[in-house]
Amino acid sequence: MAKPPMQQTLFLLGPGQVELRRHKVPEPRPGELLVAIRAATTCGTDLKVFKRGGHPRMLVVPTPFGHEMSGVVVHAGDGVEAWKPNDEVIVSNSAPCGVCDFCARARENLCRDLHYLNGAFSEYVIVPRRFVARSVHRKPQGLPFEIAALSEPLACVVHGLEAASLPPRSDALVIGGGPIGLLFVAMLAAEGHSVTLADPHESRLDTGKALGASQTFAARRDGHDTQRLRVLGGSGEGFDAVIEATGSPAAWETGIGVVRTGGSVLLFGGCAQGTSVALDTHLAHYSELTLRGAYHHRPATFARAVDLLARGVFDARLLITNRCNLGGVEGALRSMDRREALKFAVMPSCPVR
Ligand SMILES: [Zn+2]
Ligand SMILES: [Zn+2]
Repeated sequence: MAKPPMQQTLFLLGPGQVELRRHKVPEPRPGELLVAIRAATTCGTDLKVFKRGGHPRMLVVPTPFGHEMSGVVVHAGDGVEAWKPNDEVIVSNSAPCGVCDFCARARENLCRDLHYLNGAFSEYVIVPRRFVARSVHRKPQGLPFEIAALSEPLACVVHGLEAASLPPRSDALVIGGGPIGLLFVAMLAAEGHSVTLADPHESRLDTGKALGASQTFAARRDGHDTQRLRVLGGSGEGFDAVIEATGSPAAWETGIGVVRTGGSVLLFGGCAQGTSVALDTHLAHYSELTLRGAYHHRPATFARAVDLLARGVFDARLLITNRCNLGGVEGALRSMDRREALKFAVMPSCPVR
């Protein structure tokens, strides 16, 4: 594939502010790859940084953004042996150091020097050397690029489920029917658990049912649902397992309030810095609750996610409700903010803005 001299990249400039910039397509340095993006999927994290105007550590404006991506290798820098032009790839958005104490214990998501890759909303991206070594995966043949880009959020969900290690045929509740909550629903159902989905939006509950939820619950927006939710689980005593996938302290409290004796709560949604929740210490102790946090993904769960998508374990197409090109990303994020779209597949070649 020939590389044109110029490309377009979407930059985040500040809160709610983006700009499509034209600039030179860079040459990969030794050890790097130049990848033509075929599909980048939008994510709740993209919406969060769009509204906040960046992220104190990861994204300092002006900056390219977008982090769920698949594409085609255009040019491999000197010394790259594993990849060549025209290889179809899925690029992970993080690369661990491989040598710190957390990496040594296969907890690479907690790596002391985890590098992040942003810039999927672009025609081309340079994949840095560390990512080339550990974080580029071959796209399975026949897997559409837009579905392949879902490897990243699914890898997070697979990591969360491994952390939760639920007993077989658990009665599970997922709080939050955004893309992540829906991926949890799909995976839990595929693993044979019975799944209830709680969310305020009917269309999301419908998608949850299509992905395998056996029961849905129209949640209140203020999050005060504990009493009504609790009786839906098991024999009215609460759920064996609760997965919190909204990132709001109220939902964390609901989750802890609706799990049954001996059950576990996976605290998956990242809340804003400085927030805290009230914990009923009596309940946590005498009911032997397991409260478990989970963050991001690991190389092993990324590889597993690619395999799950390739095998079509669930219908991942239900997660992508819209498509657009780079000019449409701002509209896409606003549509997600109104809870209309679930996920957009952003494809530079898409005729629809
Ligand atoms: Zn994401
Ligand atoms: Zn490390």
